[in-house]
Amino acid sequence: MPRKTLARIDTRALRHNYRLACRLASPARAMAVIKADGYGHGIREVARALASDAPKFAVACLEEALAIREAGVDHPVVLLQGMHSAEDVAMCVREGFEVVVHSHYQLDWLEQAGGTPTVWVKVNTGMNRLGFAPSALADVMARLGTIAAAEKVAGFVTHFACADDISSDDTDQQTRIFSEAVVDWPKLEKSASNSAAHFLPAQPSFDWTRPGIMLYGASPTLGKTGPELGLEAVMTLEAPLTAVRTLQPGESVGYGYSWTATQETRMGIVAIGYGDGYPRHAGTGTPAWVGGNRIRLIGRVSMDMLAVDLKGAPDACPGDSVELWGRHVSVDEVAQHAGTIGYELLTGITARVPRLYEDSGNTAAG
Ligand SMILES: *Cc1c(COP(=O)(O)O)cnc(C)c1O
Repeated sequence: MPRKTLARIDTRALRHNYRLACRLASPARAMAVIKADGYGHGIREVARALASDAPKFAVACLEEALAIREAGVDHPVVLLQGMHSAEDVAMCVREGFEVVVHSHYQLDWLEQAGGTPTVWVKVNTGMNRLGFAPSALADVMARLGTIAAAEKVAGFVTHFACADDISSDDTDQQTRIFSEAVVDWPKLEKSASNSAAHFLPAQPSFDWTRPGIMLYGASPTLGKTGPELGLEAVMTLEAPLTAVRTLQPGESVGYGYSWTATQETRMGIVAIGYGDGYPRHAGTGTPAWVGGNRIRLIGRVSMDMLAVDLKGAPDACPGDSVELWGRHVSVDEVAQHAGTIGYELLTGITARVPRLYEDSGNTAAG
């Protein structure tokens, strides 16, 4: 029997979150960003679960786009970093992948190839990772006009650096720079918003948004959890209690004896650790949940197990399932305790953790 450490993935919650993204994006449409193995949820299953709702997907690289095809989903897929080699061009044409072009060397590859896939041009509006400067766009578009048929040029994308901070005006400024940069091509499509931008009071509105993290129920916005934004957790990470003991005052638990009981403490050991992707930096006080009660971690997270204080859950006993994050404890709370963001935790779950796909809206079939 395998250990009962697993990630439950709720495809109904995934669709709920995608539909919320669509409502917030309207009248723009939302391409579902499912890179990094569907933010750790399984790209094939995520693609299938969203296929009837989402008109378009976006991923970082070609391998991810091919995984969507392997899942039997033939929607358009945008490669957000475009081609990584000249050989990628033919594959993109054949598979109907749309490429984001951010550098002239990618235009060279398109020029050398027989045909071109659908192309988006990346505009650097301030983040300074990828993209052409606004002042270079006229030349880029002129060059593209000699390489690709007009109907193969989809439009422009840019990316926001600070949309997670609602008090920042950097997103307004990037939006202004983008709008002005592309003003000469009114018929082409534009795309700017990541998840966070969907929740801004003055939301930038173009033709396509690109929600990622919000689809999985985690928060893109500083100071808010996913549920506070109307999102539902898609992943519930759970593991069994494998031992329960009572510590006397002065007794410690785990590596480094980093936590010591000051009073009699009933505690449990949970079969999950950083070898599963649970963050080692989640210290004493990080919340978890068992049998209807909130509990907290104590001591240091090990590779295969961690310790919890069962004071809040007097009936908990070995075999009970502990939720590390999910419906009752948001991944955003755990991330905050670990000094990181939900993105890193969700994408960091390791291959040792099996995924169980469920549709909570379809319990009759289960
Ligand atoms: C990852 C990514 C997104 C999605 O970002 P979230 O913050 O997860 O919504 C959108 N656009 C680009 C270019 C990306 O790389």
